[in-house]
Amino acid sequence: MLDYQAILEEIHESLKKTENTGEVASYIPELANIPKNKFGIHLKLITGEDYFVGDASEKFSVQSISKVLSLAKAFQLVGNELWKRVDVEPSGNPFNHLSLLELENGIPRNPLINSGAIVVADVLLSHLKNPKEDFLDFVRELTHDDSIQYSEKIAESERITGFNNYAAANLLKAYGNLNNKVEDVLDFYFHQCAILMDCRQLTNAFFVFANKGNCLKNVQHLSSSQVKRINSIMLTCGFYDEAGEFAFEVGLPGKSGVGGGIVALLPHCFTIATWAPALNAKGNSYMGMQALEQFTTKTKLSIF
Ligand code: GLN
Repeated sequence: MLDYQAILEEIHESLKKTENTGEVASYIPELANIPKNKFGIHLKLITGEDYFVGDASEKFSVQSISKVLSLAKAFQLVGNELWKRVDVEPSGNPFNHLSLLELENGIPRNPLINSGAIVVADVLLSHLKNPKEDFLDFVRELTHDDSIQYSEKIAESERITGFNNYAAANLLKAYGNLNNKVEDVLDFYFHQCAILMDCRQLTNAFFVFANKGNCLKNVQHLSSSQVKRINSIMLTCGFYDEAGEFAFEVGLPGKSGVGGGIVALLPHCFTIATWAPALNAKGNSYMGMQALEQFTTKTKLSIF
């Protein structure tokens, strides 16, 4: 058996010696204040063992990582109908890119870019009775942790500077791909991005994608076929215009967020989350990508 704790510690030590050239996201003012050198990893094996180093139990804004959880809920609610409104192709473009949306008549390339996640948010608004409460309950259920909360401060900070997301939502509305009011859909979207979680909670939440649709408590939330599809979308679209690079360097389905988190998984084997707030030019955690590259290289555990 591999000595996972020693491997995480080796990675931590090696990254302490690496210059962190990334920058903390500043376009959401509340995120700009996070210290750049925070760093944590949490690994959870499918058999239940946990290993961690650094700031793995410090909460941060999960941002776009939440797009996988909202996708899972929408897929659970409406099944394959979802794909009439959002495609499953990598965009090869930044997360907030707009021009493809216009070229492709208001059908977002995939659910993990902003426009796609805004359509998914619209689906949830149409199908959940109390959307924000019900979605938070879903995340808490998956994670088996009732302490998870939205940060109202971060949601508001993003709303005030969310011009790009307003543009995307307005375009979607103009193309008839948004059924609810722009303001209501974005209020939900900004809140889902503003969920606060730590690395440990993220590995617990994503356990369902490594465990054929069954959460930590062995409750089935998704079919194994749905999980296969969500994992494939993470692999091809989880890192925007760096999805190829992540597959090449790390070789796992995963998702990043501009809060500096990354969560990745090997089906039937483990989930792993990293947090390092400084981002590279493509909006993915600079140190998190390197940590995961080292992890799959040292353990030889990847889908390839
Ligand atoms: N809430 C962020 C936004 O919409 C999410 C972006 C991200 O994490 N890549 O801009």
